[in-house]
Amino acid sequence: MRTIEEAALEASTCTRCRLSQGRTQVVYGVGDPNADLMLIGEGPGFHEDKQGEPFVGPAGQLLNQVLGEIGLRREQVYINNVVMCRPPGNRDPMPDEIEACKPWLDERIELIEPSVVVTLGNWATRFVLGPRVSISRVRGQRFPWNGRTVIPTFHPAAILHGGGERSRQFGELREDFELIRDTLAEIRRPPPPPPPPSTVTCF
Ligand code: URA
Repeated sequence: MRTIEEAALEASTCTRCRLSQGRTQVVYGVGDPNADLMLIGEGPGFHEDKQGEPFVGPAGQLLNQVLGEIGLRREQVYINNVVMCRPPGNRDPMPDEIEACKPWLDERIELIEPSVVVTLGNWATRFVLGPRVSISRVRGQRFPWNGRTVIPTFHPAAILHGGGERSRQFGELREDFELIRDTLAEIRRPPPPPPPPSTVTCF
């Protein structure tokens, strides 16, 4: 299997869909290639397209904040998106664009092998759990997926557009990040020691 750097180099010239025509650059992914936790967003926005890094705009600031509240820095996780190129005017990615970008995300998941995958918003959640799910119904729950645990939660941009830090959704986002913290702790906890030998005396 090739390295994440090799994959990112090839991805940087991708022309598999129309989004390649309007991009400044491919936004591949960022963070620790050995991370236990991968976060998946929708697609690059204005700032991400300019800087070549996912979640660096206002939604990224909010993401950094909730990660910080559970004791994580963005360098310790892996952050990426369903599509690697900015949809024009920040429109939703189209099904054929998501399909064209799918092998790149599938490969990143295989290379990074995260134990926990957090899907941010509807697009990433549907990528994993199927096209009919709605984020408001599945958020804050754990789903087994190919030997990993998937935890869907709200997209930070949806919080910013829907009332910000005083909204009910922001409280729910924080609750979901507590679940993410607890799930990571469970995965990292060493298995319990074997029971002590029985004290039955044999004559
Ligand atoms: N929104 C996303 O879904 N991804 C980004 O990288 C930035 C904003």
